[in-house]
Amino acid sequence: MADYPLDALDGRTPIEAAATPAMDRLVAQGTIGQYCPIPEGMPPGSDIGNLSLFGYDPRATFSGRAPMEAANQGIALAADEVAFRCNLVTLADGRMHDFTSGHITTDESRVLVAALNEALAAEFPVAFNTGVSYRHLAVVRAGAAASDDALAAAQCTPPHDITGQDYAGYLPEGEASTLIRAMMDRSRAVLAGHPVNVDRIARGLSPATSIWLWGQGRAPKMARYAELYGKTGAVVSAVDLVKGIGVCAGLQVLDVPGATGWLDTNYAGKVSAALTALETLDVAFIHVEAPDETAHQGRIDLKMQAIADFDRHVVAPCLAWAERRGDTRVLVAPDHFTLISTKTHAGGPVPFALYGPGVPASGQTAYSEGVAATSGILIRDGHRLVRAFLGDAAPAL
Ligand SMILES: [Zn+2]
Repeated sequence: MADYPLDALDGRTPIEAAATPAMDRLVAQGTIGQYCPIPEGMPPGSDIGNLSLFGYDPRATFSGRAPMEAANQGIALAADEVAFRCNLVTLADGRMHDFTSGHITTDESRVLVAALNEALAAEFPVAFNTGVSYRHLAVVRAGAAASDDALAAAQCTPPHDITGQDYAGYLPEGEASTLIRAMMDRSRAVLAGHPVNVDRIARGLSPATSIWLWGQGRAPKMARYAELYGKTGAVVSAVDLVKGIGVCAGLQVLDVPGATGWLDTNYAGKVSAALTALETLDVAFIHVEAPDETAHQGRIDLKMQAIADFDRHVVAPCLAWAERRGDTRVLVAPDHFTLISTKTHAGGPVPFALYGPGVPASGQTAYSEGVAATSGILIRDGHRLVRAFLGDAAPAL
């Protein structure tokens, strides 16, 4: 949701330009400040930003994207296993032609992943798990071919970072690279000429020519939320990664029909699931993805719509509910910047707003990056924001 001022909006940010009466009311009755979801020197990813927002120090807990996705799929990693994100990709003419294999369907992927398991499992210490579309997981067992330390430390490149580029210079590096590269090589022979690909080519679609392994790590060492903060809770999200953090934290992960991670998501269903959960649990975490996705597309109009929709369909009913009850706090916060100007993420402090018992009124009238920057409140260790949220006292100024 957070962004920089844009010329096209006369120097305003999308939050400042969008209609956000509920968030503005939340700020007027509560506090606004800044917090840093991305620790200095770490990449501004949703994995790291959301760990902070959940109250986990990314420096101590982050072990890769794949292990959290594995947790969400119910895949428990043994101590000697390392999970890799396994994209089905289209390599052509020595280049990363398409990191999604033309957004290959899950049904097609399931057939290809089965073929990969059949061919590679006998030769390599690996098991593949079908995910959604082009996004799968490979679980590699440590052994003679590579230690778990070497597997975890291998330098792997996200395929979406090298679209259109020569991929040879981006193949895995490090001690375990021989094994990882060998599996990727072998996959190309299995996938070449596979009936699923023959059919895709005949329909003018990109075939899945190779697996691409990246984002790996061991099982994250995360204390249960209940142990850390003494609270029970639930997570509502359309995104595997966020749900995976919830699983690792020991929170209830609620499935909401029609939660898409896009502008057409089922906002009412998400809010209703969260408020129902609060009848028996202490904390509900509602994650909305559309402001991020629309910013990745560089669409100012759609990002403003996503923010206005979030305000109207998520913040407004939650704030009204909390106002009626009088015993509930509401926190609004992005997990990182996603910039219209670059169509990608950025680090740095983002605005949060906190309302509820014990939180003094700020006297401010708007939720925005600029108002937060002049608030005098900056939580540098972003994972400490949750203490202000859950604590009895007001956030430290
Ligand atoms: Zn993003």
